[in-house]
Amino acid sequence: MLRTTSLALAAALFLSAAPLAQDPHAPAASTSPAPAADPAAVLTRLKAGNERFAARASQPLPIDEHKRKAAVGGQSPMAVVLSCADSRVPPEVIFNTGLGDLFVVRVAGGVTDQAVLASIEYAVDHLGPALVVVMGHESCGAVKAAIETPPGADGESPHVAYLLQQIRPSFERLREDASVAALRDAVLVNVEQVVNDLMNKSATVRARQADGRLGVVGAYYELASGRVHFSAPVPRPTSVATTAGRE
Ligand SMILES: [Zn+2]
Repeated sequence: MLRTTSLALAAALFLSAAPLAQDPHAPAASTSPAPAADPAAVLTRLKAGNERFAARASQPLPIDEHKRKAAVGGQSPMAVVLSCADSRVPPEVIFNTGLGDLFVVRVAGGVTDQAVLASIEYAVDHLGPALVVVMGHESCGAVKAAIETPPGADGESPHVAYLLQQIRPSFERLREDASVAALRDAVLVNVEQVVNDLMNKSATVRARQADGRLGVVGAYYELASGRVHFSAPVPRPTSVATTAGRE
């Protein structure tokens, strides 16, 4: 039986996610991928990297020739980031990370179709990330189009129609809620829905999250400030954790 992650992971959770206080001019933490870490430690690294970027957008990325050559032998990204394809939201830049640090899956609106889920599951199964971040962003054109374009609108290509149809269910429960008029709220609802879809559709992610090796969080990137706000991590379900053999 599939679990349903509570929709109460709602937008309000993002309010509690102020970036860590840190010297914004400090150099990047390391020039090589971190070894496997726990979800909280990886989240801390991402927050610190985003703080560097937000404080100084010209902050160099921790990339050099040595690291490029070292990456030939394999990869062990600390996190998977599912984000929109928007040109203004490259996760590696926003989190001030280098080669091999993030396994990034990008598609307009951050939807979870089979190819996206397969990409995430490949990373989780074979590369050992400790965290999955589902990141929406300010002024998301895909979410805006899903709200404003009626299904079957003239001139809409079948591929675009497919994409928008993946996003629209996020808003069904809130269609009569005037507060969702703000695009920011709609993006947060979409992030929440994508997190729930990921947890419900992927047994791989669910099992790894249940035994504590993988954290799953939502995030919202503000274009204007450069800051990423995180939701609380998806709570570990006691029943699933027990089934997975946890003590
Ligand atoms: Zn977008």
